[in-house]
Amino acid sequence: YQKKQARSTVGVFTEQMDQLYSYELRLKNSLTKAIEKQQLRLVFQPIVSSNDSQIVAFEALLRWQLDDENIPPDEFIGIAEQYGLIHEIGAWVLNDACLQASQWSFEQALPVCVNVSVIQLQDEHFISIIDDALSSSSLSGERLHIEITESVFAADTSIISERIKQLQHRKIKVSIDDFGTGYSSLSVIQDLAINMVKIDRSFVNKMNTNGHAIISAVMHIASSLDFLVIAEGVETEEQAQELQKLGVHYLQGYHYSKPLEIEDIDSYLIQEPESY
Ligand code: C2E
Ligand code: MG
Ligand code: MG
Ligand code: MG
Repeated sequence: YQKKQARSTVGVFTEQMDQLYSYELRLKNSLTKAIEKQQLRLVFQPIVSSNDSQIVAFEALLRWQLDDENIPPDEFIGIAEQYGLIHEIGAWVLNDACLQASQWSFEQALPVCVNVSVIQLQDEHFISIIDDALSSSSLSGERLHIEITESVFAADTSIISERIKQLQHRKIKVSIDDFGTGYSSLSVIQDLAINMVKIDRSFVNKMNTNGHAIISAVMHIASSLDFLVIAEGVETEEQAQELQKLGVHYLQGYHYSKPLEIEDIDSYLIQEPESY
């Protein structure tokens, strides 16, 4: 009886594996054509100053509309990395983000923050892709920020360190995304001269338990190592106030705004002073 059950479990398991695999393959094939078919677009989420809620930057977030379905980036970025599609997609994202930012018509020239996968960063062409994106949009380096996901530090830090220097040489700021959930250590932040850290929203969520102590510790280190801190996933006024008390510099989350479609950005900024 036991054996039989074990075997059937394995049967179900491999069947599920097959299904998963063919789902991934189908996704990969559609993703290959996504750029060409213009199914990719960027949306932009405001990042605000914790002092006065003024917008200081926008984060570009990738959207993929496949037929009637919106496939979230967490579902396809991994596949894009696995099948080598991330380079083309990443270059498209960088180009489009810089182009959009260069067309914003605010008084202040706000920066755009672009997510970059470790695999992109390690690519030998990465810096020339950056240079192309800047020159074809005429955006200055100061207006581009790069957000690196923490798993970066599982990779070869000497290449990463070199790339970060090359970015900073162009006045591009570099932040660590989803801080606290991955591999990076505080010494790595110092060694790499990271400009900013984005505290993962799971800590903001847990502020009534241990999240508070963790964010407080990060703030202490931030002031001695001299990096700025952004809190992600701020959904309530209480969270915003608490984070401000803790000295977190910048806030981002649904409490301020969901990611905006390109055509809504200018009008959002015009009505912005009233909404706080
Ligand atoms: P991320 O860079 O940490 O982006 C923040 C994610 O949290 C976004 O999800 C955003 O829509 C969501 N978010 C913002 N505010 C709130 C909030 O108050 N509450 C909650 N629950 N969620 C909030 P999204 O757009 O689905 O992106 C997921 C992840 O996919 C990103 O996490 C990033 O790691 C990756 N990603 C997105 N666009 C790109 C891209 O162009 N390139 C690369 N390599 N990765 C990307
Ligand atoms: Mg990000
Ligand atoms: Mg994040
Ligand atoms: Mg994330």
